[in-house]
Amino acid sequence: MIGVESPNNGKLFYNFNLEKKVRKNHPLRKLKEILNLDFMYNLLKDKYGYNGNISVPPPVIMKMMILLFLYNVRSEREMMETIPERLDWLWFLGYDIDEEVPNHSVLSKARKRWGEDIFKELFNRVVRQAVEAGLVDGEKIFVDASLVEADASKNSVKKLDDIKLDEQYQELVKRLDERAEEGVEGSGKINQEHISSTDPDATITSQSGVRQLSYKVHRSVDDRKEIITTCSVTTGSVNEAHVLEKTIAEHEDVVEAKVGTVVADSKYGTTENYSALKEKGIKTHIKDLGASRVHRGDVFGKDRFAYVAERDVYICPAGKELQRRSWNRNRQWTKYRIDKEQCASCELRSQCTNDKNGRSISRLPGDDLIAAGRQDAASEEGIKDLKRRQHLMERSYAYGKRFGYKRARWRALWRVSIQQLLVILRGNRLGILCRNFICRCRMFLITLNLRLKPEY
Ligand code: SF4
Repeated sequence: MIGVESPNNGKLFYNFNLEKKVRKNHPLRKLKEILNLDFMYNLLKDKYGYNGNISVPPPVIMKMMILLFLYNVRSEREMMETIPERLDWLWFLGYDIDEEVPNHSVLSKARKRWGEDIFKELFNRVVRQAVEAGLVDGEKIFVDASLVEADASKNSVKKLDDIKLDEQYQELVKRLDERAEEGVEGSGKINQEHISSTDPDATITSQSGVRQLSYKVHRSVDDRKEIITTCSVTTGSVNEAHVLEKTIAEHEDVVEAKVGTVVADSKYGTTENYSALKEKGIKTHIKDLGASRVHRGDVFGKDRFAYVAERDVYICPAGKELQRRSWNRNRQWTKYRIDKEQCASCELRSQCTNDKNGRSISRLPGDDLIAAGRQDAASEEGIKDLKRRQHLMERSYAYGKRFGYKRARWRALWRVSIQQLLVILRGNRLGILCRNFICRCRMFLITLNLRLKPEY
């Protein structure tokens, strides 16, 4: 017999148990079972007053933020509107079915009150847990940076000269001065003269010919199980090479182990980085920035010329010697040259030089360090690491794309920083290793320094 739909008039009383409504194998059930955020009370005790309104408990707010990223909900408003409709979320958060859910603004207010440091502390606790679980070795790290599109339209960019009469002018000039004090380099002069009125922390960058307002996220990934050990965010125009030392220091601090090898692309291959890392006895599996630039043309790069310290000469690809000719006091370089007749009759000339006086090489004060770094990168281990780096770092960032790391959810540097930390918590390497949802939930637990199961 066919059933007929009856009008739903609603009952006056319900015999209802939220606990029973959440299926036994629900991923959030596992998460709730081992989730213990009580440590937050201690961390945040100075951030709340002793009198006045009672706040939403910080662990509940953190659970909401977890849901936001775990389910990749587009906005906080949407999430708070959805919570009363989702029995599993209500149960997970500890709300009853008829209990009122706080306003969406509670999340942004909490972020403001807690600040970035709390999230950083949570992140570091996770890494330490991963170290204790033997997932992090700490000796070899892979480093890379990626641009994050700011939550601001290009139309918000103003040229300071054009808005002198605007109310915002003084405020924006102040922010520009702060940027200069923070050592933020501009992409050319553009960031010294232009600023976004919507998000003044973001700067204009150009990638593949497309200009956009950006931030830059910097990560280091440990070699053993590809756990992300550090994450920092700068404005988009900061050169990643300048963040390398800070990244290494942060990694060593949290992992409590000395870095022995750094693997990175040629953008990090500056004299300053080679010098700093060699001083600390760190192997640099980093390609030389100068060499990669020269190779863009048809001319042999400096890396094709071998320096022979005993005789103080360079040997060119044709096996001829370039002798020391002059020293530039201002620029602190020594010039090495070959007789023009030798180049004139050389078969490799078209690939080597267009100079009618023959090829020359300038030797700079940091060249020894660059040469040592280049040697490290050209070793068997270095070549293997550099090949691995491409897949490893791409995987790390590609996984974060699913959770929206490429676009800022919020405005201002500190908020973007929180977002990136939460994205990493969501997508750290364990999530990749264990592709199912439950394992990703477990990654959250590790991330939030919760009870680490022995199997991890
Ligand atoms: S062009 Fe001159 S410097 Fe270059 S490979 Fe030939 S001889 Fe050597």
